[in-house]
Amino acid sequence: MHEWALAEGVIDTAVKVSKEKKVKEITRVVITLGELQQIDEEIFKFALREIIKPASIFKKTEFKFEREKAVLRCKVCGKEWKFGDMLSKLDDVEAESIHFIPEMSHVYMKCPGCGSRDFEIVKGRGVWISSIEGME
Ligand code: ZN
Repeated sequence: MHEWALAEGVIDTAVKVSKEKKVKEITRVVITLGELQQIDEEIFKFALREIIKPASIFKKTEFKFEREKAVLRCKVCGKEWKFGDMLSKLDDVEAESIHFIPEMSHVYMKCPGCGSRDFEIVKGRGVWISSIEGME
């Protein structure tokens, strides 16, 4: 059900921004989904459509989705690497575990620079609006 909460957050933000910029119709909203953000895109799209129904400002809105690649950074040596580059070294079950619970990456991954498991996820989590277009 968290798709609905996320969709509500996105719509609230879009409404707030459109008011600030005095936009009457929002034509396009680009939404970025982190690679490690666990989300069902179909449910999310459905939730967006349902939530905006009563709002005329969204009558002609096109929603576009983008995925942000996940980036990890070692806390010991500072090296950054892409989650996707490491995925090829994992088996399917491990890769799936990490997608389901990002914290599991600490179990299966280590820094390619120094071998430490003390790293953080710096990109690839969350859902946010990357751009809003509209007509005044
Ligand atoms: Zn390191």
